[in-house]
Order: sequence, then C-alpha cells, then structure tokens
Amino acid sequence: MVVISLPIGFFLVNELTKLSEDEQMVERVFTKQLESILFSVNQYSENVISYWVNNLDLPIECNSDAMQEVASNVLENNPSIRQIGFIETGKNESLAIYGQNPGTLYTRIIEDKEKVDALLEFLESDYQKIEILSLGKETGLYFIMKNQGSQVLCFIVVNTEDFIQQGLGAEIQQVSQELFQIVVFGPIDNSIVYNTGVDSPDISEVQHTPLWYFPGYELGIKLLSGTIDGLVSERSKKGRSMLWGLVAVVFIGAVFVIWNIRKEIRLAELKSDFVSNVSHEIRTPLALISMYAETLKLKRLSKPEKYERYIGTIHAESVKLSAIVNNILNFSKLEKGKKFFGLVPEPVNELIETILHSYKPHFEENQVEVSYTPLERNILIKADREGVSEAINNLLDNAIKYGKESGKKVSVKCITQKKNVFIEVEDNGIGISAKDKNHIFDKFYRVTKGDLANKVKGSGLGLNIVKQIMKSHGGAVSVKSKPGEGSCFRLKFVIAKNKGNGKNSDS
Ligand code: ADP
Repeated sequence: MVVISLPIGFFLVNELTKLSEDEQMVERVFTKQLESILFSVNQYSENVISYWVNNLDLPIECNSDAMQEVASNVLENNPSIRQIGFIETGKNESLAIYGQNPGTLYTRIIEDKEKVDALLEFLESDYQKIEILSLGKETGLYFIMKNQGSQVLCFIVVNTEDFIQQGLGAEIQQVSQELFQIVVFGPIDNSIVYNTGVDSPDISEVQHTPLWYFPGYELGIKLLSGTIDGLVSERSKKGRSMLWGLVAVVFIGAVFVIWNIRKEIRLAELKSDFVSNVSHEIRTPLALISMYAETLKLKRLSKPEKYERYIGTIHAESVKLSAIVNNILNFSKLEKGKKFFGLVPEPVNELIETILHSYKPHFEENQVEVSYTPLERNILIKADREGVSEAINNLLDNAIKYGKESGKKVSVKCITQKKNVFIEVEDNGIGISAKDKNHIFDKFYRVTKGDLANKVKGSGLGLNIVKQIMKSHGGAVSVKSKPGEGSCFRLKFVIAKNKGNGKNSDS
C-alpha cells in the first residue's frame, strides 16, 4: 500500500500546488483583460479629444471668419462641447470665443500660470500637451498652438456628462459585447453617469480605473456571468474534482493490478502444490502395482491364495490411478471448453440409484452408512449421465475422504422446488470453515490446515470439476457446512419438459 500511496500522494500535492498557481494566473489574466477593456475606452476618449485639437490647431487667424466656421463646425458636430476659445498667451487677451456666453473658466486657466508655462515648454520641445481643468459639471481642455507667429492658448469647454453619455456611450456599448457591465461613476457618491446594464452593480464586484480626461470620474467593469473570484473558484473546483477523480482511478487501478498480481502468485503457488500433490497421489498406486506385479512375475508367492489378493490390489490401484488421470484429463477438457455434455431428459430417481449402485463397493470398503431419499414422484431433469455421475462421484469421494475416522455417514437426497430438482450429498465429516467455503470451488484449491488436510491426498480439482459440470447443465453447486459438524453439497438441475405435452412424466 505504501508503494501505491507514496507516489499518488506526491502526485496529488504536486498537482494541487500547480492548480493553485494556475488559479492565481487565471485570476491575473482575467483582471488584466478587464483592465485592457477599460484602457481601450480611455484610449477612445483620447482619440476623440485629439481629433478636436487637430481640427482647431490651424494656421488661420483666431478671430477670422474662417476660424469661426471651423469652430462652429466642431461645436455643431460635438454637442457636448459648450465653448471654444483662443487667448494670446503673452497678453492674456481673449482673441475669440465661440459657443455659449463666456464663463469664468478661461480666466481660471490663465491664472494657473505654472501650467501654461509648462505647456509652452512642451510646445518648444515639439510636444503639444493637453491640460485639464475641472469646473463642476464642465471640464476645460486646453493646449497651446502656434498661430500667426504667436503662441495661442486654445480651450474647449465640455459638458462632462454629455460627453460620457453621447460621445463615449456608443463605444462603451460596443466593447461591453453583452459580456461585461461597464459603468461610469461620477465624482459624487459613486453616482452612476452611464451604465450598460439594467441594475447598478455591487461596487465591490467592479474593477475601477479613472477616466483620463475627466478628473473624479471613474470607469468600472464587471463580468455579467459572475465575479472573477467566482469564475476562478468554479474552474478550480472543477479542476480539483477532476484531480480527485483521477487519483481515485489511479488508486483503484493500482489496487486492481496488485490484486491481480497477488491472484496470479497464489495461482502459481496452487499449481506448484498441485504438481506435488498429484505426483504424490500417483506414486503410491504406481509403487504398489509395480511391487505386486514384480512379485507375481518372479513367481515368489509362498501361498497360492495370495495370488488372488495381489491381482485384486493391482486392479484396485490401477482403478485409482485411472480415476486420478481421468480427473485431470476431464479438468483439462473442461478448462479448454472441449468437453461437451449431451443434455437429455433423465429420470432423477433412476439416475441417482444407478450412480449409488456403482459406488456401493467404495461405501462398503470405507464402512460408510448410506441413506438415500428419492423423489416421491419421479421427475425428468436435463442431464448428461456421465457428467452427473462424475459430479456426484466427486462429492461422494470427498464425503468419504473428509468424513469422520469412524462412523462415517453419507445421506443422498433428491428434492424438488419450483422449477428445479436438487440433489444433496451430506456427510458428518470435518466440515469447512466460512473462509475456505469461498475458495473450495476454485481450481487447485485445497484446505491445508487441520489434521486431516495433511493426511488426505487430493489434487484440488474435484470441486472445480463439479462446478464446471453443473454450469454446463444450466445449474449450480452450493455448500452448507460447519466445521466439526459435516457438510452438505447441493446440486441444482433444471427440470426437463416432455416434448409431447410440455409436462413432466410420472414413472
Ligand atoms: P481435493 O479433495 O482433491 O483436495 P476438491 O476440489 O475436491 O479437492 O476439494 C477442495 C477442498 O475442499 C478440499 O481440499 C477439502 O479441504 C474441501 N472439501 C471438499 N469436500 C469436503 C467435505 N465433504 N468435507 C470437508 N471438506 C471438504
């Protein structure tokens, strides 16, 4: 288990760390993406303002008709612009003012001398900077341009909320793409100036950035499908459950592989036990046959009556030998699926009586008290005589082998229940433990504990053969047993229907 758990644990810790790093990265990527959307809105407002500047920065007299036409055009096409004015910087004189009545804004601009000087310096270095002055609902944008040999300060007064709603609105709608909610907050109490959504968003879920040209105003964005935190945690939840699923699969797979390896090792051990058990079982009758045959061959018999006994032993041992070999051959055929059973309707009582009759000498030899209970009404079962006989013989062999040392009892019963006939072989022998009961039908399995286990010889094939025969009969074998109290093996057969009337016959 340590061999499996260690690498899986290492893998898990490694993957979980990677996952949380991924989460942080995804969160950063999402945040950056939203930032760049807000950046594009700011960029757009800068483009619009630069366009106005380019339209006004002309080498024509500021109070000429031509300039008036230009300014009127700009005012007409951009309703958020309230006023356009020109001031000669050295003299601080107003050259021309277009649009609404002159407010106080331009005097405020001139008063801030430092900023004007800075703009002049920038212009000297060929950079035309745009300066901002916020005045309540209006924003003043001003810059210096060279005009008719002098430096002229041009200012544009914009109604901020009109610009946001009319000028920026369309762009904001376009970039929101129904995926995001974009909001513009005003300078007072986060009042909403523009909103692409229907509800005002929860302020804590919104990502903010200031509007470059409109001090105090802020752009806010949020995902419509939830929050970034929510999305990231959803992703990581999925990632984590997939990871746990993977770990579970790897773990189950590893346990399965180990279980299989152990099973194969166990089978290899059983096979090797089987070879030694069978060799042992074969060696004894072979030794006896060869010894008695040699004695007969050399005609060393002192008394002629011994001749019968020797011949009898040779015969009995060769029968045992051929039974062992037959068992192995039958097992091999069954394993390869080469043994075929011709299932025909057989009367149960007669079938079992015949089998018991042929087994009689073994009962006598082992001094077994046998009882037999046939069916009251004989029934036909689907059976192959040879197969059933082999299965019952194996059960009877075991009943004797694992029976009591003295006072062996075997009871054979035929029972009918619903659509099946059962044949029970019960003994009063050593019984089988609950743990062994789960394995005795496995090939090569033998119980190796207990006094009798070592004394009694066997190959571990008998019950597996019974199981395979019963399977071929469409039936099954089961066992009830308690250690020290005996065992009862039960064979289940299918009742055969008479071809003529579909009913079973009475004998
Ligand atoms: P074998 O008898 O050659 O060992 P089997 O496949 O016939 O092989 O039986 C498997 C094991 O089941 C036996 O080793 C024995 O421990 C147990 N067993 C089978 N029949 C009985 C029985 N009637 N009573 C007690 N144990 C039994």
